[in-house]
Amino acid sequence: MKASAFSYARATSVADALELLGAHGDKAKVLSGGQSLMPAMNLRLVSPEFIVDIGELTELRGVAVKDDILTIGALTRHVELLKSPEVSARAPLLTEAVGHIAHPAIRNRGTLGGSLAHADPASELPACMVALGATIVVRGRGSERRIAAVDFFRGIYETALSAEELLIAVELPVARKNGVHFFSELARRHGDYAITGLAAQAMLEGEIFTDLRLVFFAVGDRPLLATAARRLVNVTVTPAALSDAMMALGEELDPQDDQQATAPMRRHLAKVLMRRCIGTLLGRADLNAGRLA
Ligand SMILES: Cc1cc2nc3c(=O)[nH]c(=O)nc-3n(C[C@H](O)[C@H](O)[C@H](O)COP(=O)(O)OP(=O)(O)OC[C@H]3O[C@@H](n4cnc5c(N)ncnc54)[C@H](O)[C@@H]3O)c2cc1C
Repeated sequence: MKASAFSYARATSVADALELLGAHGDKAKVLSGGQSLMPAMNLRLVSPEFIVDIGELTELRGVAVKDDILTIGALTRHVELLKSPEVSARAPLLTEAVGHIAHPAIRNRGTLGGSLAHADPASELPACMVALGATIVVRGRGSERRIAAVDFFRGIYETALSAEELLIAVELPVARKNGVHFFSELARRHGDYAITGLAAQAMLEGEIFTDLRLVFFAVGDRPLLATAARRLVNVTVTPAALSDAMMALGEELDPQDDQQATAPMRRHLAKVLMRRCIGTLLGRADLNAGRLA
């Protein structure tokens, strides 16, 4: 199948893109790397009348560090994130996660902003943004909004962006001295979307978590920041405490059945990932042993 007929304009600046979006409203779509939009158009899942191509706006590409904030432009491609020394030094969770996105051909074109605006609940990058406590910078004509990642994702393919706004950049607090991270996803083949995944960022004082952000993906309509993790903060983590937190996680999740997995399987896999994450971050093999809650 081919996409429905559409008009096309290549934006020459962010202001130009915003003018075009303002003029066409929800009949227009932004084109970045095209790795999600073009397949969706060819399948006629979406049929925009007007495409605003922002792919040449180099001002939206790149990584910068200032004070304790890492700013990444929306047009920064997955491959650029993967290879960036600034990202691996200051947000290593992101470097680890990007290697799980699709395949090199898609990582060469797909962009951070496109992935976040697309908001597929099985995507790696939205979960990382929530785990890292990112701020999403969004611009409209004459206004700019900064939205906490946890509030940005609203549902399946749904975000806080309006049709007339552009995602411009993300801002991440840089990794601190006692910061640790964990990323894992379970998929049928490397490069497939996850059946269940976990992006985690934590602070450790000795063997005690002083902060623990566990964000599960592909188990609901958006990345889920697990409140069950609070049970493991500022306490000595025992096998019993971990089992208790895993049980709470199971109650908190509301996954759906689909062709890839049933809801109970997803719930089970999320608990497996939680156990592996906590055991790995604490370097405690004893927590990885035994039966699941
Ligand atoms: C075979 C295949 C496998 C894939 N596997 C994975 C995977 O495992 N994990 C994963 O996360 N992704 C996967 N993807 C998707 C890929 O990562 C896309 O690159 C990404 O989802 C979208 O980035 P893009 O730059 O290509 O966005 P586009 O396709 O250009 O746009 C996607 C959506 O975001 C909107 N948009 C884009 N940029 C902006 C912006 N700056 N401001 C406002 N709105 C914007 C567009 O209008 C569109 O609605 C896969 C894609 C394919 C084709």
